[in-house]
Amino acid sequence: MDRGKQEVQGRNEEEKEVIFMNIEKTLVIIKPDAIQKGVTGEIIARFERKGLKIVGMKMIQMDEKLAKEHYAHLADKPFYPDLEKFVTEHPVLLFVAEGKEAVEVVRLIVGPTNATKAPAGTIRGDFSNSTSRNVIHASDSKETAVKEIKRFFKNEELFSYEFRNEYYRYAADE
Ligand code: UDP
Ligand code: MG
Repeated sequence: MDRGKQEVQGRNEEEKEVIFMNIEKTLVIIKPDAIQKGVTGEIIARFERKGLKIVGMKMIQMDEKLAKEHYAHLADKPFYPDLEKFVTEHPVLLFVAEGKEAVEVVRLIVGPTNATKAPAGTIRGDFSNSTSRNVIHASDSKETAVKEIKRFFKNEELFSYEFRNEYYRYAADE
């Protein structure tokens, strides 16, 4: 489910109701530099603490074809060959995060592309000082998220499950 109605589980019968929320899914890639720095756990923890639900997760090694598809919007840039080498020479961790306005929320947690200018408290601000080796990728729009999740995950690799404490994550009228 990307948007709309979600029946809240984990409430008693009187409290159980159908609520409206912009529940979205978005793709996150923990890049090779984060794995080398040993900060993958700290990065994942930030999304969990925010209340986002991890609905798929795996490690892959991207090949050149996949990198070219994923970074097609940058293929003409002078830094593209270095970017392709960087993201293909080492495995990456992928996960899909789900939650209210997840695409925007994840980008806010990640911070701007140029980590040198990324505020402290964002992942890029705290774990990188580079525009290239900026530790993480996150989908930049709802449309991109749909395409990127399809690019990296088969349907059967994505899961649907309920948090038992939904009541403490969102109000019923959000
Ligand atoms: N990148 C780079 N040099 C640049 C701009 C981008 O090496 O001048 C790399 C960097 O790893 C960035 C990725 O290309 O995360 C994708 O760039 P995009 O503009 O899509 O930024 P993002 O969506 O990752 O913030
Ligand atoms: Mg981007």
